[in-house]
Amino acid sequence: METRSIRGFHDVLPEDAKRWHRVEETAKAVFELHGFSELRMPVLEFTEIFARSLGTTTDIVEKEMYTFADRDGSSLTLRPEGTAGVARSYIENSMWAKSPVTKIYYTGMMFRHERPQKGRYRGFYQIGAELLGPEEPASDAELISMVWNILEGTGITKYLTLEISSLGDGICRPQYKEKLVAFFAPERERLCEDCQRRLETNPLRILDCKVKGCSEIASRAPRMIDSLCADCASHFAEVREALDSAGVPYVVNPGIVRGLDYYTRTVFEITTGELGSQNAVAAGGRYDGLVEELGGPRTPAVGFAMGMERLILLHQAAFPEGFGREISVFIAHMGEEARKRAFRLASELRGLGISTEMEYGGKSLKSQLKRADKSGARLTLIIGEDEIRRGVVKVRDMDTGKEDETTEINPGLEIAGRLGGK
Ligand SMILES: [Zn+2]
Ligand SMILES: [Zn+2]
Repeated sequence: METRSIRGFHDVLPEDAKRWHRVEETAKAVFELHGFSELRMPVLEFTEIFARSLGTTTDIVEKEMYTFADRDGSSLTLRPEGTAGVARSYIENSMWAKSPVTKIYYTGMMFRHERPQKGRYRGFYQIGAELLGPEEPASDAELISMVWNILEGTGITKYLTLEISSLGDGICRPQYKEKLVAFFAPERERLCEDCQRRLETNPLRILDCKVKGCSEIASRAPRMIDSLCADCASHFAEVREALDSAGVPYVVNPGIVRGLDYYTRTVFEITTGELGSQNAVAAGGRYDGLVEELGGPRTPAVGFAMGMERLILLHQAAFPEGFGREISVFIAHMGEEARKRAFRLASELRGLGISTEMEYGGKSLKSQLKRADKSGARLTLIIGEDEIRRGVVKVRDMDTGKEDETTEINPGLEIAGRLGGK
């Protein structure tokens, strides 16, 4: 047997976890500031939930989902994104009946069978949020500025650009689709095979095609943003005005299509030039029809998701030195009596909220001090027979190398005090 992880899946190693925590904690703090609460969802849903929300002609549903039959034959899918599950839970738990506004965030692993590249995995982590209920532009602007605040909090906005656009609604988008079909039809033969099919199934997706010939033609196509109805146009104008008033920097990019069918009106992407072709760090938008499509009441909503792996790559670029020390105190000891004393003291220090490690067995003092050095501890405590006899603990300050002894009867509190004063 070959011991390895599945292609496209990866571990977050303990030495990197601190960085992940930093980003996650920043996001959670900003979510709380906006009154969002966490929803923990299963990673498996009935396939239909995704097929119906994402659209059967999208790349995700057509090619990328991990779908399999359950033992009773029902079709299950590992979630490729979070919004469909939130909408399913929103309906199932009648959240709409409890409050006119529901604010939810989630974190966790998503699964898509894509070609793995730098910053892109088949099993990847996302942080996302959904604001369900209101359709007013202020809610779009709140969500977008919240995303921006999270990224600002993590210190990486210098690498980022926020782009926004509008995809219209059930009134102006069908008209726009007709315009697109009329535009692409004469070019049909020059489109790739997928796009020839898209011309019938979903012409909007042609705008997203990465094939050079297609994107060349698409660059001359009519733009949704010029085809908005009056309501959509004023909605978009108000989103922009609110973002301006919140001081969130953005550019309007009419080229944003988004890979999913459920988006209406506002869409946005946060991109970076630092990661090669994997340039989207966060994305989202309004999806006023999704909850209804899944069998719930009409519920306008706006949401976003961001990819943790790409965020972490940018975070590494911004803070290459990594994060702080792992522990505060390391206890080295010599002799049976000292080992027992060390164990007691370690428990006491942890009880005082001080992260503490000790040597378990009978290693030489030299090798214990080596480990203490590597641990990043601020203080190393040394207990030998002499210290036991005199009722003291030797304290080495790992920054200065200076050594002295505890003077108090209770070394735990004294050590806590020393750490506090540093
Ligand atoms: Zn194409
Ligand atoms: Zn419209």
